[in-house]
Amino acid sequence: MALIDVVDMKKSFGNIEVLKQITFQVEKNEVVAVIGPSGSGKSTMLRSLAHLEEIEGGTIRIDGEPLVHDGVYASTADIRKIGRRIGMVFQHFNLFPHLTVKQNLALAPKLVKGEPIEKLTGRITELLAKVGLADKVDAYPANLSGGQKQRVAIARALMMEPEILLFDEPTSALDPELTGEVLEVMKKLAEENMTMIVVTHEMSFAKDVATKALFMADGQIIEEGVPAEMLTIPTHDRTKAFLARTL
Ligand code: ADP
Ligand code: MG
Repeated sequence: MALIDVVDMKKSFGNIEVLKQITFQVEKNEVVAVIGPSGSGKSTMLRSLAHLEEIEGGTIRIDGEPLVHDGVYASTADIRKIGRRIGMVFQHFNLFPHLTVKQNLALAPKLVKGEPIEKLTGRITELLAKVGLADKVDAYPANLSGGQKQRVAIARALMMEPEILLFDEPTSALDPELTGEVLEVMKKLAEENMTMIVVTHEMSFAKDVATKALFMADGQIIEEGVPAEMLTIPTHDRTKAFLARTL
């Protein structure tokens, strides 16, 4: 059974159909790279998996548990339970500027799980070490580089101990010299078998780290394949045109 099972996912904003019956599966430990032009629905697809958007039709199952089945959502309690299994990292980090790194990391476990900060200190230390920022525990986001902010955001997502991590263009807001440090952390997570979906323009990351690539255009999945093959010899004309512009 796939860890993430999406069948005929449909979503509109007003009368614009943004996701047109999208179907795909992600197995446990898989790293899926999602590529495609701006406006093709990549963010909406990820946000729908994280229940930051509600879809109008279709089914999303996480480890067999329906978040939404044929357009009908699970109970609030079940949605919350499923939601805890999924973490998300955003293009613009979304750290709270008035909180220190430590407070940013503690916030969700405190609010969602009611865990006191004293109980969280060990995990905070461990995760900051993992992303190479042990010395920034008391820093404020304003005093960090973009690459450091994004690594804090990854550590924050890991605080909830998710089984699935979703990344929406995690390096697109960074200066080129700072993307490497973020991609390194993501690569390490992949090596530790984290199940990940990564919307990205980083083709070398997709080829080297991802186990599967999806190409989206106009709210549809146009092509799906092994990254090294699909990104080198795409079969669909839309994929060819997109890659020709990107490379
Ligand atoms: P991508 O991430 O591939 O660039 P998005 O999922 O952000 O694509 O957007 C897909 C389409 O949905 C775009 O046409 C965008 O303008 C539209 N869209 C996204 N979010 C909203 C929203 N909250 N309200 C209205 N339209 C939206
Ligand atoms: Mg987007």
